[in-house]
Amino acid sequence: MAEQKTPITVAYGDGIGPSIMQATLDVLDAAGAQIAPETIEIGEKVYLSGQTNGIEASAWESLRRTKVFLKAPITTPQGGGYKSLNVSMRKALGLYANVRPCIAYAPFVDTKHPEMDMVIVRENEEDLYAGIEHRQTEEVYQCLKLITRPGCERIVRYAFEYAKAQKRKRVTCFVKDNIMKLTDGLFHSVFKDIASEYPDIQHDSMIVDIGAARVADTPEDFDVIVMPNLYGDIISDVAAQIAGSVGMAGSANIGESCAMFEAIHGSAPDLAGQDIANPSGLLHGAIQMLVHIGQGDVAEKIHHAWLVALEEGLHTADIYKEGASAQKLGTEDFAKAVISKLGQSPSKLKAPSYADAKPLSLPSVGHKTPCKKELVGIDIFLQWQGGTPADLGEALKLTSNEELALKLITNRGVKVWPEGFEETYCVDHWRCRFMSSKDELDFAEVLSLQIRLNSAGYDVVKTENLYNFNGEPGYAAVHG
Ligand code: NAD
Repeated sequence: MAEQKTPITVAYGDGIGPSIMQATLDVLDAAGAQIAPETIEIGEKVYLSGQTNGIEASAWESLRRTKVFLKAPITTPQGGGYKSLNVSMRKALGLYANVRPCIAYAPFVDTKHPEMDMVIVRENEEDLYAGIEHRQTEEVYQCLKLITRPGCERIVRYAFEYAKAQKRKRVTCFVKDNIMKLTDGLFHSVFKDIASEYPDIQHDSMIVDIGAARVADTPEDFDVIVMPNLYGDIISDVAAQIAGSVGMAGSANIGESCAMFEAIHGSAPDLAGQDIANPSGLLHGAIQMLVHIGQGDVAEKIHHAWLVALEEGLHTADIYKEGASAQKLGTEDFAKAVISKLGQSPSKLKAPSYADAKPLSLPSVGHKTPCKKELVGIDIFLQWQGGTPADLGEALKLTSNEELALKLITNRGVKVWPEGFEETYCVDHWRCRFMSSKDELDFAEVLSLQIRLNSAGYDVVKTENLYNFNGEPGYAAVHG
């Protein structure tokens, strides 16, 4: 056991947060965890006091100093209102890997999937969660999906290193690169490249829709699954729920220098203040935290005691089953039950060993050497409602010149000019692709086209430069 107490930052959060955090810290204290918690205030109360980002400067100071954060769930409004503090914290602290073990505890916790034992490794900073959204026209809103090569390399390598350290046999990749050929295509190609460096670990890939269906139907077939942010967010909740309860899974958010540990569920306002929530998700986050700070022995003691409590039917309401469970316990009493089992080991459930566990040490990801990048055209997006696609095409041809000629127009990604279908439903948002007649386009030509369009009364809402990288198009082909 470590002799010096490790400083950690703790936030009690919103809704059920304070009660599950207290229960978790009680168990850690009774088990002899050598931690020195510093409490920070984040979430609803901070927003309501006028701090619009939900976190005060002093809290950042604590987080950046301790570099270890045990966090209860916080409430984020849906639709409008303030931005998700969870997402901001993951990005600000560079917590790129979100690791979510989802395990069944049959026959002690009811589940249709008694053999399930999977870990979802979710990319945590990119994808649609970059939060770059715009309203571009009366009818059209946009959210940018950003996938980067360093982001893919870090998360995929993390998944393989995690599998190696945990003696897991297979890593599966979920993507949708049949549709998003550039963004998810990059994730998939990085996965295949890095997989080849781990010959002792099997690997395979699935399109995320069938992958999600298989997770819901036969989760026991999976081991480690790695995927971009949004898919991972959704599928890990499904996986936690079908393992028994969303209240039982914890998650670790790992970065190069900082780490944050939490439950996968939210603040469950419907259960707040009733002492009925299951603290196990946060307790599992805390177990991962203890391993991370080198107190694997304490982590193991807590995990074993928790398994003994489950085996003895000491259950919170979310997993309680008449006839199978022995006692329905509230949050606080469940923590006391776990404490009373410290020092015991489960007799049937698999007892994990953390004695030799160490945080993963991954190589830093470098940036790629620059490649030859040539501007070859431009997509100009217009808000326009003046007639048919053919009307727009004919009118825009007048703004073309020898350098930069209109090649096609799409609406919501489908080609409508030249030779579109009458049946295609069109909104007020038109993507007009102009291509250069030369190998490399002078950007001044792009600006002059924009000025011509503006002078002709067109509402240019956005432009995207079309580049070739080492001669390969860096833009998607057009449907239709
Ligand atoms: P939720 O996970 O809070 O709750 C969904 C349902 O799951 C609840 O109604 C409850 O029945 C059950 N549940 C959740 N945790 C439980 C527990 N510990 N014990 C027993 N049952 C439990 O999801 P939600 O209702 O969609 O979100 C509520 C709020 O939490 C929202 O503001 C959301 O933005 C926020 N949220 C925060 C985090 C986080 O802080 N990391 C994560 C997800 C959602």
